[in-house]
Amino acid sequence: MEMTRREFAGLAAMALAAGSIPGAAWARQGAPGTMTTVLDWDRVVDGAYVAVGGGGNSLVMQSGRTALLIDTKLCGYGAVLGREIGMLGTAPELVINTHHHGDHTGGNSAFTGSVRVVAHEKAKARVLGQRERYRGAVRSTLNDLAKSDADSAAGAIETVENMVVGWDEIETSSFAPTETVSGDASFTVGEQEVLVRHVGAGHTDNDVFVYLPGLNILHTGDLLFHEINAYCDTSAGVDIDGWIRSCEALLKVCDEKTVVVPGHGSVTDRTGIQKQIDYFGLLRRTVEHARDKEGKSKEEVQKIVPSGVSEYGYTQLLEMNLGLMYDNEV
Ligand SMILES: [Zn+2]
Repeated sequence: MEMTRREFAGLAAMALAAGSIPGAAWARQGAPGTMTTVLDWDRVVDGAYVAVGGGGNSLVMQSGRTALLIDTKLCGYGAVLGREIGMLGTAPELVINTHHHGDHTGGNSAFTGSVRVVAHEKAKARVLGQRERYRGAVRSTLNDLAKSDADSAAGAIETVENMVVGWDEIETSSFAPTETVSGDASFTVGEQEVLVRHVGAGHTDNDVFVYLPGLNILHTGDLLFHEINAYCDTSAGVDIDGWIRSCEALLKVCDEKTVVVPGHGSVTDRTGIQKQIDYFGLLRRTVEHARDKEGKSKEEVQKIVPSGVSEYGYTQLLEMNLGLMYDNEV
């Protein structure tokens, strides 16, 4: 289900009226139904919402008076997420990062001081090594918020301004997970079981995906770029064969009704995961044919737009991926 920003606030007000969630601060201020959000919220099933914008897709799963948050967006957006999750009348007790990239961990510092933040063990050192990425992102987040007329932006902007001004006082460790997992793990949030799985290197060397069996929702992290060209980060241990194996593992937890939340792109189902596998096969066949059978140069191969992915977003990544495959770097 798609929700507009205003409908999101209305939904929170309805839930509040029904007594299913505790009183949200904004509602106590007497403005239910009138608050607007920076992020676009999509209710995928009752109690589960995808927040789009400001980085990778975040999933909020609400159970009773508590919640799970998967991925925290770009630096500065943690303040936005915290406020907007609060509009649902809840707060996360557990945060999971699907991998270390700054558009999935940048908001961590809003949570690490108070709740558990879990990631794969290989994510931690990479998070600690990307302070400058967070610094660049928080400045652009401040610009985004300054341009936004959403009510929640007004509340978050002071926090983000303080981050920019007081950057030197912010410990890099505040972005790091508070606990790590090396392989499969499970947690309980409210009444819901939360299964975390690592299949090996794929998009990075520290991808985990998260499955909520009680709601039949799968958050893939960046193992799935849904109908968008995939980002192959050669500095982070990208492994296309491993990525395909991870996608096959994703497919194994899905049935035809599973709601699949990609790291980027629109919410989908298992067919979206199969498309990710097909994407790599198509690009590999395209490169091998053009390079080995037709003798094309790298520059010529990078200009090819294979039919089937011509509508995919992030087109500069297509060129990059063809080049990496031409050089056998991925
Ligand atoms: Zn990523």
